[in-house]
Amino acid sequence: MNLTVIGTGYVGLVTGTCLADMGNQVTCVDIDADKIKQLQNGKLPIYEPNLEELLHRNIEGERLLFTTSLKEGVKNAAVIFLALPTPQGGDGSADLSYVKKVAHDLGKLIADYKIIVNKSTVPVGTSEAVHKIISELTDTPFDVVSNPEFLREGYAVKDFMEPQRIIIGSKSERAKRILNELYKPFITVKRPIIYMDERSSELTKYAANTFLATKITFMNEIANLCEKIGADVDITRVGMGSDPRIGNRFLFPGIGYGGSCFPKDVNALVKLSDEATYDFKILKSVIAVNTEQKKSLIPKVERYFKNDLKGKKIGIWGLAFKPNTDDVREAPAIDVINELLLRDVEVVAYDPEAMSNMKKIYGDRIIFGTNAYGVLKDVDCLLICTEWSQFTSPSFGRMKNLMKRPVIFDGRNIFDLEVMKTKGFHYESVGRKIITIENE
Ligand code: NAD
Repeated sequence: MNLTVIGTGYVGLVTGTCLADMGNQVTCVDIDADKIKQLQNGKLPIYEPNLEELLHRNIEGERLLFTTSLKEGVKNAAVIFLALPTPQGGDGSADLSYVKKVAHDLGKLIADYKIIVNKSTVPVGTSEAVHKIISELTDTPFDVVSNPEFLREGYAVKDFMEPQRIIIGSKSERAKRILNELYKPFITVKRPIIYMDERSSELTKYAANTFLATKITFMNEIANLCEKIGADVDITRVGMGSDPRIGNRFLFPGIGYGGSCFPKDVNALVKLSDEATYDFKILKSVIAVNTEQKKSLIPKVERYFKNDLKGKKIGIWGLAFKPNTDDVREAPAIDVINELLLRDVEVVAYDPEAMSNMKKIYGDRIIFGTNAYGVLKDVDCLLICTEWSQFTSPSFGRMKNLMKRPVIFDGRNIFDLEVMKTKGFHYESVGRKIITIENE
């Protein structure tokens, strides 16, 4: 099938590359000329495991093209995917200007039947709005379909190739027939296409993301309570998760959720609900709790240093909002670093993939190390903000030799408490007992 993907970011690039790998002819369009140039040269503009090999294979197979020209991209396409940004607007709602702008451009360009498939996360009613914009500009027949994307950064290729489910929101039998054909290689009995109306499809994406954000936030509150009453959240988590009605995934406490999706999607659903005169109280609490949780290491650090952080040197491991990505959008590390800088702390940070994105935010206001041990020299303590696997089994002896004091505040519970009792560190984590050093 001839396909076009408009917006070649985390979602669009993975979508385009994976669909090309299934034998489709795909053109990816983006307004970012540098990004398109890099991709034409076979270079990935983002870090995403397993994507590079797939990109090269499909460029070499001449199934995958990149262009800045929407006209060229759309010309031969049977299906046009929108993978455009829908960032948080000033009032908390999703900013639809990118989607509406492209809808307007498509209205002027399409000359034969097209299926316009929206993969961006958009408020309920957007499919209808896009349909209206295009139909005001053309008499050419077309359908607008809602097809929210559920891939996770860090696992995006696997998630796209083996989706848990594909949601298609459409009333058009013609569009459903064509999309069924396109997605056939990705589905199994256990991983089906679920058809529904556009509005329910748009809401499904928000409901899924905000539920997951709520699950994380609930566990963060359990962890905070554990710290006050002397229970251990990791043991409680295992006890809870063994109940199949609860499940053991997404029960890990930490310093809050971040990323380009959960924060904006929770805000957008609150806004959407407010507009529908429904007061979504749980989600309002989720936002409030998560905002505090992202800064929750700071009072622990202040308590340890008796509110005297000025001039201290603090190392940070992990800047990305989660492991296996270079994405720092709404990363908890940003909240942590901002709080430290406000207290005149010297920050030395390391992340395996996200440092260039973080440099765009902080420039030379913080120091970036070249490896995990490189940020430990003479630091008063280490803060762990992202659970990259390479941080999980370090040489504690080497760490201790480098650090001014053997003190770790772990925002992701990456170390075993029993192990830490033997390593000679002051170790504070989330929802678990504080390990102290003798004579402290
Ligand atoms: P992104 O910012 O990485 O990519 C969007 C791309 O669109 C950018 O490259 C940008 O230059 C391009 N663009 C903007 N205007 C354009 C135009 N007029 N024509 C062509 N290209 C244009 O965003 P993303 O993370 O891929 O997210 C896209 C959508 O998918 C959002 O709605 C997001 O909520 C949703 N989503 C994201 C993820 C994720 O993990 N990132 C997962 C599921 C859903």
